This record gives sequence, structure tokens and C-alpha cells, in this order.
Amino acid sequence: MTRASGRAGKGAAPKRPVRTMFSLVPVEFRDSAIAGRGVFARRRFRPGEVVVAYAPKQRKLDARDPAAIEAAESKVTLLSGRDVIIPDTTVPGGWLCNHSCNPNAALFASGEGRIQCTRDIAPGEEVTIFYGWVTHNEPERDACRCGQAACRGFINFDISDEDAAHATVVDGHRVELDDFLRRRFAEYGRFLTSIGQEQALEVVAATLVRIKLRPPGSIVCGY
Ligand SMILES: [Zn+2]
Repeated sequence: MTRASGRAGKGAAPKRPVRTMFSLVPVEFRDSAIAGRGVFARRRFRPGEVVVAYAPKQRKLDARDPAAIEAAESKVTLLSGRDVIIPDTTVPGGWLCNHSCNPNAALFASGEGRIQCTRDIAPGEEVTIFYGWVTHNEPERDACRCGQAACRGFINFDISDEDAAHATVVDGHRVELDDFLRRRFAEYGRFLTSIGQEQALEVVAATLVRIKLRPPGSIVCGY
């Protein structure tokens, strides 16, 4: 913060002391022990409350626009219906939220995108979301430093070619799992349910379908 003391020159009217009774800005953005800059609560949040806009300054592109596909490399773009939200990363926002294996908030993509509280957040606490990244043949791509007791060690859930061999494509668009892969997905599903993130399993299923139906030799990535 920059103090404006330099402007109060000779002859300036005496200033009234300003007492901040409460902060109107619900979050602050500062260095995080998890990674880079994070989002921190400046007041208490209850489940269901909007914590911060995903990208206070943003542009939207059609999801099929090559520029949107290119922007997705940054990992901060957000698919909202048929649009891709591309944050202006010179303006901090919910896009700075770190991942946690036991998050206290969730990202909602509808409209302009927002971070919403899912369990009580105390003032000063870091606001975290579950990324739900799914990788293909990159099992240890994203180390997790969330520090939670239930930390999986990695942010990403990986599907290897070996896993995919346990799935069969039926009718050209549907994928059936054998017992091995069903157990593996069920285990991850139980973990997701325990932290209220079971929707992340949809990305796992969709990524598996893309792996099974991809052109030979290509790599699939759900971020
Ligand atoms: Zn973790």
C-alpha cells in the first residue's frame, strides 16, 4: 500500500483520523506456503457465500477459438458454458486460489466465474479449491504442498495407458471398466466424496474416454 503523505504539504487541512472499523475487501492476495501467491480471507466466510470473483478483469472467447485453446496452456482459463474465461493476470482474483486436498471453497464456472465457500473459513485462513487435474502418463506431474492430513501428495490424478487397457470402448462412444479400474476409480471417488468434490470424478471419466478414443500416439490432458 502506498501512503499519500507526500501530498499533505504546508497549508493542508488537518486530517481527521480515519479508523477502519472493518475491512470492505473480503480477501487479500499474498505469498502462500502452498505455492506462489494465494488468496487469504480477511473476514469469516460461511458455506455458500461468494468469497471472490474468479477474474475481476477478464475477457471471454468462444471455446473453439484457437486463441482460447492457446490460452488454456496457462491453466488459469475457465470453461463457462460455451465460453472460455481468460483472466487478466495483472489483476488478482480467485484465479490465484491454491489447490488443497481438503479445500474450504470451490470454483463455480457459470457466468463470470466465482470462488464460493464450502466450509467455514476463518479470518487469515488461506482460501483453497480442489483443482481436479487429470493427467495421462504423468503420475507425479504436480506435487502438492497443501499440508492437509489427507494430502494425496500430488494434485493430479493420473490415468496411465496401463489403466486405460482395463477399459473397453463400447458402441464407439461409451467406455466400460473392468473390476481393476472400477476399484481404482472407486477409491479416488471415496476420497473425493470425503471432501465434497465428487464432481471431479466426471473429469476422470471424460479423460478416460478421450484417452481411449484419441488418435494413436497422442497425449490427453485434463489440465
Ligand atoms: Zn495436498
